[in-house]
Amino acid sequence: MEITTMAQATQLHAQLLKNHPQTHPQLTLTKIFNFTALSPSGNLTYAHQILKSLQTHPSNSYFHNTLIRAYSDSPDPFHSIDFFVNWLMSDDPFGPNPDRFTFPFVLKSCAKLKLKRLGKQVHGLVLKSGLGLDLYVQNGLISFYSGCELIGFARKVFDEMPERDVVSWTAVINGLVENKKAVEGLRVFERMERDGVEPNSVTVVAVLRACAETGALSVGRKLDRLVSGRGGKLKKNVVTGLIDMYSKCGCIYSAVRVFDGAGDRDVYVWTAMISGLASHGQCKEAVELFKKMESVGLKPDEKTMTAVLSACRNMGWVDEGLMHFENIRKVYKLRPTVQHYGCVVDLLARAGRLEDAENFIKSMSIEPDAVLWRSLIWGCKVHGDSERLEHLIKHFEGSSMDACDDCGTYVLLGNVYASNGKWKDKANVRRLMNKKGLVKPSGYSRIEINGVIYEFTAGSTCNTEAENIYKKLDEIEETLRENGYDPKVSDVLLEIDDEEKATQLLHHSEKLAVSFGLIKTEPGTIIRIVKNLRSCEDCHSFMKHISSVYQREILIRDRIRFHHFTNGKCSCGDYW
Ligand code: ZN
Ligand code: ZN
Repeated sequence: MEITTMAQATQLHAQLLKNHPQTHPQLTLTKIFNFTALSPSGNLTYAHQILKSLQTHPSNSYFHNTLIRAYSDSPDPFHSIDFFVNWLMSDDPFGPNPDRFTFPFVLKSCAKLKLKRLGKQVHGLVLKSGLGLDLYVQNGLISFYSGCELIGFARKVFDEMPERDVVSWTAVINGLVENKKAVEGLRVFERMERDGVEPNSVTVVAVLRACAETGALSVGRKLDRLVSGRGGKLKKNVVTGLIDMYSKCGCIYSAVRVFDGAGDRDVYVWTAMISGLASHGQCKEAVELFKKMESVGLKPDEKTMTAVLSACRNMGWVDEGLMHFENIRKVYKLRPTVQHYGCVVDLLARAGRLEDAENFIKSMSIEPDAVLWRSLIWGCKVHGDSERLEHLIKHFEGSSMDACDDCGTYVLLGNVYASNGKWKDKANVRRLMNKKGLVKPSGYSRIEINGVIYEFTAGSTCNTEAENIYKKLDEIEETLRENGYDPKVSDVLLEIDDEEKATQLLHHSEKLAVSFGLIKTEPGTIIRIVKNLRSCEDCHSFMKHISSVYQREILIRDRIRFHHFTNGKCSCGDYW
């Protein structure tokens, strides 16, 4: 008989106890135990009771492992650790004997709870138990270390494995991506392919994320061909991954193709598409798609709402944005996140409604983060509201300074001072940053050429072709100047003369990347660049000029959105 409800399980258990009070037939009991422990409609406490009644059962490590595994998947994984430790301390005459099916789940719980020290101690126990070279346990160790942001240890376990299976490769790739080492993740994936290991759908999702992060379009396309070629229906998380990868690599039409071809779609699939459209400036389409999603009866989640609000932000649709924000609580019964607030503040600040933006921040039910204040300061700077700016700066210099340990805000403040010629105040900001140990994140731009990712930082010279790149850049600048390009030196806020400022501007990372792209690709090829920060005004105008003078489409993904440059114009309409 198949057990499908707890009622059946308890009934069967009662019969068993009545008919065989001393020796429980193993098979039936295991069936009851498995159902109560592992089924979504089971009852873990009941399973635990069954196990307690079996304290002297000869083969109880199976039951222990099952319970540890079930607890590790439960909402409270700490129970699995608690249970594991109690088991180790028990005077069980047949054990305790944790084995290769015990440790991976204890480690999983440690990872979920970020218990780094405890997890390392479990690693010690693994070695003592002679399971240090067990494939299954090693895979668990990789996942634990990656989940606890100890990617170096994960890498070490992986590198020292005598044999690896697809789970090992996937765990390490996933760990690298999660720990912001997507480029390294792609390299490991290359090795995996060379070793002839066939990726499974979990691997594909992890590698697609790495492609999305780095802009590695050709690898992403290869994965699309691979999964499509396997036939059958694609898993929803693979579809989501493909849509996200294509939109983040600048191919919004390919993303739409995947979306249109997807059989069933869950909220993640829809959200990926809405967010892709929004970042590509197809904001009307994004909002329409959102309405369509609602009409098929799906409830949006926080990320969907972030995508919708950012569509409104990108278009400057204040009223529509405010309406969607209201709906988050009222209609969808979600709690607004700091990202939601961020979109609204940015929207108001860009539209010049600075008073509203400030009041909005003050009315927030959660602590405003640095990004919010930064948007407001930025708005004041752009709209020339120096009075509000002064008082915001005072506010920052006052008590809440500590609550706001964000470099970006300080850098922006410094820039505000510098553009007003207040060099002493700017120097003070810098001193404060140094005191707090804040380092300005360095900007980089990445470009993929023939499957290889090249990374540039401002003024970098480490590329083997650095000399050619700078030569080409000088040539481009000259051509562009002849065609009306004029470097915006006010964007360089250092105490140096205009000529030197122009050179500094010229060496911004995206300009180096575009120069490299022009050298390395055939005329007519689209140049795709991924940048980690927001582009400066000068780089933006530089790209517009290149797109018309060199007749090249250029796609730049910055921290927030896409800029698609064609024939001297950008898809953002200069609103970013
Ligand atoms: Zn720039
Ligand atoms: Zn733009």
